[in-house]
Amino acid sequence: MGNYTITVLPGDGIGPEVTQQALSVLQAIGEQYGHTFTFHSRLVGMAAIEAEGDAISNETLALCQQSDAILFGAVGGLPGYTTSRASVKPEQALFRLRKGLQFFANLRPVKPLQDLFAASSLKPEVLAGTDLLIVRELTGGLYYGHLEPPVPGKPSEIRTTEQGEEAIDTLLYTEAEIERIVRVAFEAARDRRKKVTSVDKANVLSSSVLWRRVAERVAADYPDVAFEHLLVDACAMHLIRKPASFDVIVTENLFGDILTDEASMLAGSMGMLPSASLGTRRTVHGRLGLYEPIHGSAPDIAGQGKANPIAAILSASLLLHYSLGLKQEAATIEEAVTRTIQAGYRTEDLREEGREIVSTKEMGEQIRKQLRSLISIPQSN
Ligand code: NAD
Repeated sequence: MGNYTITVLPGDGIGPEVTQQALSVLQAIGEQYGHTFTFHSRLVGMAAIEAEGDAISNETLALCQQSDAILFGAVGGLPGYTTSRASVKPEQALFRLRKGLQFFANLRPVKPLQDLFAASSLKPEVLAGTDLLIVRELTGGLYYGHLEPPVPGKPSEIRTTEQGEEAIDTLLYTEAEIERIVRVAFEAARDRRKKVTSVDKANVLSSSVLWRRVAERVAADYPDVAFEHLLVDACAMHLIRKPASFDVIVTENLFGDILTDEASMLAGSMGMLPSASLGTRRTVHGRLGLYEPIHGSAPDIAGQGKANPIAAILSASLLLHYSLGLKQEAATIEEAVTRTIQAGYRTEDLREEGREIVSTKEMGEQIRKQLRSLISIPQSN
C-alpha cells in the first residue's frame, strides 16, 4: 500500500475524454489494492496556449519533475485552427517535456489481442503470436534541430541561396546517446523473449554506421540475448510480413516514429496502443516517466464519445509497472482490457459485425467492472 503523486496533463481534443477513463481505472486500482493516488491536473497544448499563453507553463514543468509519474492525453488543434498566439504550437509541450525531463527512451509495446484480429488489415495467421516492443530514441536525431533557441551544431532551417531556397535538417547522434538507448532495449529483452533487433540505415548514413558499431559493443555485454541488425526499409517490410518474428526493436527517433505508427495497425487501431517515455531520473518508487497513448487529439471525433480509451488505460498500466513498481496491478489492468474485448465490447474504431458499440465512457466502465471482478477473485500465489 503506497502513496503516489501523479501529474495529469489531459491536453486537447479527445485527450481529456480518454484520460478521464484512465484516471477512473487508476482510482479503481487504488480502492481495490489500498493505494492512494494524488492527481494534480494541469493544462497543456492548445488549452494552455489559450489560458496561459504557452503550450506548457514552467510551473507545470516543475510539478512534473516533482511527481512520481506523468499521465498525458494528447495535444493539437483542428487543422487550420489558429490562436491569437499562432507562433506557439501545442506540440511544443511534448518536446519541452521530453527534452526538459530527458525522457530519451520511448517504449511502445504492440501485442494484438486475438479477439481483435478482424479489426486489423493483416491476416490472422500473420498476426498470430505477435508480441513486440519498439524502443525508440526520443530526444536526439532529426527532430531536435528545430528547437528555439537553435541547438548549436545542429542546423535545421530553410535558407535562400542564389539558386533558390534550400532546407537542411541535422541527424546527429553521440556515442553516449546511442549506448543508453540500446541498453534500455537489452534490459527490456532480458524480461521478455531475449531478442533485440537494432534498426538503422547503415548502408547509407554515417549516423547509422556509428549506431551499428555502438549497438554491437553493447550487445557483447548481453551474451544471453540474441542480437541482429536490420535495415529500416527491410524492417518496415518484415513488420507486416512476419511481425511475430520480433521481440524488441531498437531504433533512432525518425525511424521509430514511422515504424511505430505502422506497427499500430497490427493492433487494429491507434486507439489500442500505449507508450511509456523514460529517462534516468529516479523517484522513491522507480523511474520518472511520461505515459501517453500513441494517438493524437483526433479533432474529427472529439466531444462525440467515440474515442477508444484503451490506449490511455493501457498507458496507466505502463505507469504502474515502470514508475510505481506495481507490476501485479499493471497486469490486472491488461487482463481487464483483454476480458472486456473478449466480452464483445467495441468502440467505433473497432466496429465489427455482431459486437456491441459502446461510448468512451461505457468502455471505461466495462473495463472497471472486469477489474473489480478480477481483483475479488482470490489469487492462488
Ligand atoms: P490522430 O492520432 O489524432 O488521429 C488519426 C486518426 O485516428 C483519426 O481519424 C482519429 O479519429 C483516429 N483516432 C485517433 N485516436 C483514436 C482513438 N483513441 N479512438 C478512435 N479513433 C482514434 O492524428 P492526426 O489526426 O494526424 O492529428 C490530430 C492532432 O493531434 C494534430 O494536431 C497532431 O499534431 C496531434 N498529435 C498529437 C500527438 C500527441 O499529443 N502525442 C500525437 C500525434 C498527433
